[in-house]
Amino acid sequence: MATQIHQSHEVGPPIAAGLPMPQFRKITVEPLSGACGCEIGGVDLREPLQPDVLAEIMLAFEQFLVIVFRDQDLTPEQHKTFSRHFGELTELPQAPTYGGDRLMQEVRREAWEAVNVVPSFEHFHTDSPFLAQPPKAIVMRALDCPQWGGDTAFSNACLVYEHLSDGLKAVIDTLQVVYSGKEIWSRNEKLPPDKRLRLRESHDFTEDQLESIHPAVRVHPETGRRSLFATSAYFQRFVGWSEEESRALLTYLQGLAQHLHYHCRVKWRKNTLIVWDNRFTLHRGVHDFKNERRHLIRTTVIGERPLGVADLTAR
Ligand code: MN
Repeated sequence: MATQIHQSHEVGPPIAAGLPMPQFRKITVEPLSGACGCEIGGVDLREPLQPDVLAEIMLAFEQFLVIVFRDQDLTPEQHKTFSRHFGELTELPQAPTYGGDRLMQEVRREAWEAVNVVPSFEHFHTDSPFLAQPPKAIVMRALDCPQWGGDTAFSNACLVYEHLSDGLKAVIDTLQVVYSGKEIWSRNEKLPPDKRLRLRESHDFTEDQLESIHPAVRVHPETGRRSLFATSAYFQRFVGWSEEESRALLTYLQGLAQHLHYHCRVKWRKNTLIVWDNRFTLHRGVHDFKNERRHLIRTTVIGERPLGVADLTAR
């Protein structure tokens, strides 16, 4: 009798980050939540990676979009060498460099600094969407972090898109977003000193390189999976929409990304290294700590020109 009941409720494979859970043989993979992220064990990133190990790391990256390694005491050179498995590294016009190296950036809050209220980055965002080829991935490692608090949270933008109605999907599938980073320096200077972002002081990017138009729905170049690619940081408007209309829709979409069932959250420890897919997830630091230093260093892997639904049908 029990068997019969079972057969009438056929159950598929366990789902992780919205897809069936793959098999991993060379690394250990522990999902962080049902929505995205996993912790990978059994790998020393200081050493050259065997092709089968690397293939499983890349599979985990594609599936989970956020992969976490613990206890990786890397030199900056080892950090860059590992990062290059994901693609070519790029400098950024706005992010402060680390150790005078153009290809490394830092995120730093000193113990004596009060909570830095930067509204656009205290929300879920994607990094540098104003670039023509926004980052594919960020590879970030903790040098110093609070004993508790200061986590980084992620939201799976594929799941956000997949949960929309067909009607709203059809509307945003055709939308394009104007992103601009042109104003951030002048806007920063108008803020009181204690509220200012720590920006890079000079860069060689041209004005043209600081503004781009991208599809609001981004298509994964390998899997074809779709995701919401519209967030408030650097957002100007949807092409052909007024600013007011654009803000109203963006606020609604941005609100959806806040839902807990799209999230994972990573607690940093010294030498924790996270690689996140900056194309298909949103992220934010959680500044819920005080009187402790938080110092993270990172590389930025350049991405493809974002593909939209129109590019997909044109192929
Ligand atoms: Mn960021």
